[in-house]
Amino acid sequence: MRTASHRTNSHGVIKKIMLQEEIPNSLTGTVSSLYIHVPFCQSKCHYCDFYSISSANSEQLHRWHETIKLELQRLASESEAAGLEIQSLKTIYYGGGTPSLVPVKFLSEELDLCRELFGIDEDAEITLEANPEQLNSKRIAADWLEAGINRLSMGLQSASDRLLQVLGRRHTREDAYHAFNYAHQAGFRNISADLISGLPDATMSDVEDTLNFIDSLPLAHISCYALDVAHNTRFAKMQAENPERFPDDLLERQMFHRIRDTLIGRGFQHYEISNFALDSFESRHNTVYWRAEPYLAAGPAASSYLAGIRRSNPASLSTWVKSVQEEGPFSENNITEIISDEEAMRESMLLGLRLLAGVNAEDFRNHHGRDYRILFASQIEKLCQRGLVDFNGETMRLAHKGEDFCNIVFREFV
Ligand code: SF4
Repeated sequence: MRTASHRTNSHGVIKKIMLQEEIPNSLTGTVSSLYIHVPFCQSKCHYCDFYSISSANSEQLHRWHETIKLELQRLASESEAAGLEIQSLKTIYYGGGTPSLVPVKFLSEELDLCRELFGIDEDAEITLEANPEQLNSKRIAADWLEAGINRLSMGLQSASDRLLQVLGRRHTREDAYHAFNYAHQAGFRNISADLISGLPDATMSDVEDTLNFIDSLPLAHISCYALDVAHNTRFAKMQAENPERFPDDLLERQMFHRIRDTLIGRGFQHYEISNFALDSFESRHNTVYWRAEPYLAAGPAASSYLAGIRRSNPASLSTWVKSVQEEGPFSENNITEIISDEEAMRESMLLGLRLLAGVNAEDFRNHHGRDYRILFASQIEKLCQRGLVDFNGETMRLAHKGEDFCNIVFREFV
């Protein structure tokens, strides 16, 4: 399910480097997070440029499921041979696409296989992205819980039926109301909603209405990303033809501030630029990305980050199936980036500053063995002078002004 959130994981913000460096012979390190990509959707939303197959048939779903199982098996056997230690999983995240289209039997089998191959921690966070129109009974949510899913991330985007139509979403406000409540009645306590600020035709009263609506929902977490108009989408065409339908940056920021201030007033902690959580409900899986920690990945178009190497699976169901069968998950053909030590440190700054807790000197030293205050002294001084960050000698974090101009801050570390 694409929201701008898909742009926040680390592979979205780091420049690609050419493969001129020598590829290490072996991997080293440990990992305990797994991302599984589901490439199916019922139709294409008007703002989405993600790889997804609309109107998938059962044969494609079955092929995906069988290949996911094979990829997990190869990850387990080949990582060991390559010197990578996969620890008992602490987070598993089904993203897409529309993971709620996957039959619960498949989810259950895949999670059982993960348990058998890697182990899953008792208190692991296991997330399923879901579209509200598919969660149309309490039974469905109960089945997901039984399969092992314990966190739902639902693509609400807006509570306005008019705006949902503009977005090309398939659910209505009423569908969403029932879906969140079915999930809660079935026993889910960790439920997140995705919102988008800066939608075409949106007014401040739409924002107020959505805020009132979500106040009635059993939510522990909310993500709110600014609309990012991607090329080759219906929104790109709409923006070229009718730019006046899109809020300007100032209005989008005002909308976001209204959402931020309201959620904070309701007891949500603003813990990442675009994310809010009740106490202890921060997304543990996404925090792995923001802390530049390693993660495994399975599925077409999925990217992993292991021992300084980023790999991306082919963004095509048939090519991915062939690649898993013939080459395996550690194929050199899948390597898209080799991150040098210097790049890894810049990445830690860039991603770490997304977290409102900021970057701490001791954590950075534990991770990289270096002192960021010395490495990035000139950047720190410049950003402090411009009022974009707060720095207390140990920790650097975005200032309020820096939250609105975070791209200027991040540019210093690219
Ligand atoms: S549900 Fe819509 S936004 Fe999500 S991945 Fe599918 S087409 Fe994209």
